[in-house]
Amino acid sequence: MRSEEQVVFVGAGPGDPELITVKGLKALQAADLVIYAGSLVNKALLAELKPGAEAHDSAPLTLEQVIALMTEAVAAGRRVVRLHTGDPAVYGAIQEQMEALDALGIGYRVIPGVTAAFAAAASLKQELTLPEVSQTVVLTRVEGRTPVPEKERLQRIASLGATVALYLSVSMMDKVVAELLAGGVYTTRTPAAVVSKASWEDERIVEGTLGDIAEKIKEAGISRQALILVGEVLGAREKGVPEKSKLYDKEFFHGFRIKA
Ligand code: SAH
Repeated sequence: MRSEEQVVFVGAGPGDPELITVKGLKALQAADLVIYAGSLVNKALLAELKPGAEAHDSAPLTLEQVIALMTEAVAAGRRVVRLHTGDPAVYGAIQEQMEALDALGIGYRVIPGVTAAFAAAASLKQELTLPEVSQTVVLTRVEGRTPVPEKERLQRIASLGATVALYLSVSMMDKVVAELLAGGVYTTRTPAAVVSKASWEDERIVEGTLGDIAEKIKEAGISRQALILVGEVLGAREKGVPEKSKLYDKEFFHGFRIKA
């Protein structure tokens, strides 16, 4: 076994078990031990494990316990998959795991996944980057128990006026809206959408504006596992696209479509 195969961090995708990558699925099928984030990873993926493979929910475990499980399995020559929801690089707490594995001399690699922001955009059938509207997407969160650096306070992020995707924030929707409005660019008419359990069978979509979205999600009873999208791009489905992309413009030539 190549040392990089000892532990594989795999992005499980947002929920729909078919949204894991082909590479991620192959790693899962080859694993002897899978440590998965039970609160968000779809357990249907565990049906892919080979007979005799062991699965552990990481929810009740500490970092030390996760690393101890990995170390023991690797010492026994077993393949380990650490299955994270969405993409492991986004709020996945993988850096500390990789650091611990480095210190132990255990090899690993990372297989990316579909992060919640992109699953939510797909559910809404919405492009996040529209010419003349926004060419920037910020992945962020409001401060909760995990502190957010002062320079990235939501109010400052909001002052960009870009498309914003908020993770881990729906339970603090009033605070989210207040900080977004305080940025001075968005208004109570700025479109906002909340997708709860994007790509799952019980997915729900709530659409509105910064003026009414907090009330609407309260009415819908959504308080967790949801992604918030905010920005003028969301208005395009109603108002149309102000400026078509240059990429497919018949007057615009580039490396792959050269002027005759
Ligand atoms: N690594 C994950 C994010 C983990 S943080 C990823 O890349 O998606 C957990 C937060 O992600 C949740 O609070 C929620 O905001 C968001 N999230 C994860 N799965 C989601 C889904 N299917 N639908 C909507 N939001 C989701």
